[in-house]
Amino acid sequence: MPGFPTLECHVSLIVQKFGGSSVSDAEGIRRVAKRIVETRKAGNDVVVAVSAMGDTTDELLDLAHEVTPIPAPRELDMLLTAGERISMALLAMAIKSMGHDARSFTGSQAGMITDAQHGSARIVDVTPVRLREALDEGAIVIVAGFQGFNRDTKDITTLGRGGSDTTAVALAAALDADICEIYTDVDGVFTSDPRVVPLARKIDRITSEEMLELAANGAKVLYIRAVEYARRHNVTLHVRSSFNNNEGTIVYNPDAPIRLGGSAAEREENAVEDPMIAGVAADLSEAKITVVGVPDIPGKAAQIFKIVAKTNANVDMIVQNVSSAATGRTDISFTVPMNDGHRVMQALEAEKDDAGFQSLQYDDQIGKLALVGAGMRTNSGVSAKLFGSLSDAGINIEMISTSEIRISVVTRADSVTDALRVVHTAFGLDAEDEAIVHAGTGR
Ligand code: ASP
Ligand code: MG
Repeated sequence: MPGFPTLECHVSLIVQKFGGSSVSDAEGIRRVAKRIVETRKAGNDVVVAVSAMGDTTDELLDLAHEVTPIPAPRELDMLLTAGERISMALLAMAIKSMGHDARSFTGSQAGMITDAQHGSARIVDVTPVRLREALDEGAIVIVAGFQGFNRDTKDITTLGRGGSDTTAVALAAALDADICEIYTDVDGVFTSDPRVVPLARKIDRITSEEMLELAANGAKVLYIRAVEYARRHNVTLHVRSSFNNNEGTIVYNPDAPIRLGGSAAEREENAVEDPMIAGVAADLSEAKITVVGVPDIPGKAAQIFKIVAKTNANVDMIVQNVSSAATGRTDISFTVPMNDGHRVMQALEAEKDDAGFQSLQYDDQIGKLALVGAGMRTNSGVSAKLFGSLSDAGINIEMISTSEIRISVVTRADSVTDALRVVHTAFGLDAEDEAIVHAGTGR
């Protein structure tokens, strides 16, 4: 056919996620709409997952709590999902006004099937039949983030705070997208939170394993369940700013066949260039519980943590001291999310006599710092350097725990910011210029 390109042309499918701060007002919606249209004009099929505008979700939550201290979970999900319904419809309107076909879908219309856990539902299946139809008809597809539908209860669910990231990744996996772009208010994933560490540096590429550790230890740029989902389904992520066209951060699984091109040799070379330390994160959301005077005999730790497990609290760090010969007793400290702290204290208190310990201490003025890097596997001296830099700054370490690619320490809450900065410098992560934060709160 004369005049037609003879090369077989592959239409890419791109999933784009826009967070609340990118669509915080009408102007933001139009800016995002333009961006989506540009992607479409470049010849791609586009599926968009969108969050609620600005702080809508928080405002709806506050409103619910003004009505009743303990809102019914089913009704709370009904309420919160309204936030994404507003942004998806406005975004579709804006795109249509720019002369392109667009259609918005709720989570259930999009086939986001979840379990029945209101407030933190997990995606169990994605059946994007209507999305495929819309794409086949040439429309841009807009999906409400953060929401799904349970088949048994026939009720609407939400995926937990920040869940629109997961929506985007699940759509990318189900539709076999070429890339999942997560648009946010910073230029990508940074070596530390640029709001706290001004010299944080943008990371070009990071493995999903490292990203998972950072997200699990307080990095707010990506939601942990989304990273897990992406890792499990080999979805490559591109985290980037919605305020400019800069390349952001690629989050990839080095063990997966990479979609982004690159021969085995190129990948090998990239791996060699990967820095030893990916980043350093902080978390102020945990509390420390110390069980004082635990009899140092077999079975006591098991008994204590069985009590804790019954509260469903997620235990993070655990430290047990050597017992003193004189008393035959020891202290065990551990951290749990602050929100679960009082429940755990009550459960332990109730079984104090049976477990045989002497007393309990509760401390929510702690901060946790986590240094993450796949290079730790093959480099020694990382912990010495970490502890050395903290001691130089006069920061006391209260607890330590490690994984293969992470070292975490607990400090006083009010030293965690200093700790982040000195560790960032000590590991040579500082950039020359201060990072630019475009808007919002890091979500
Ligand atoms: N709107 C929801 C929240 O604020 C979901 C999201 O933003 O990803 O948590
Ligand atoms: Mg939000």
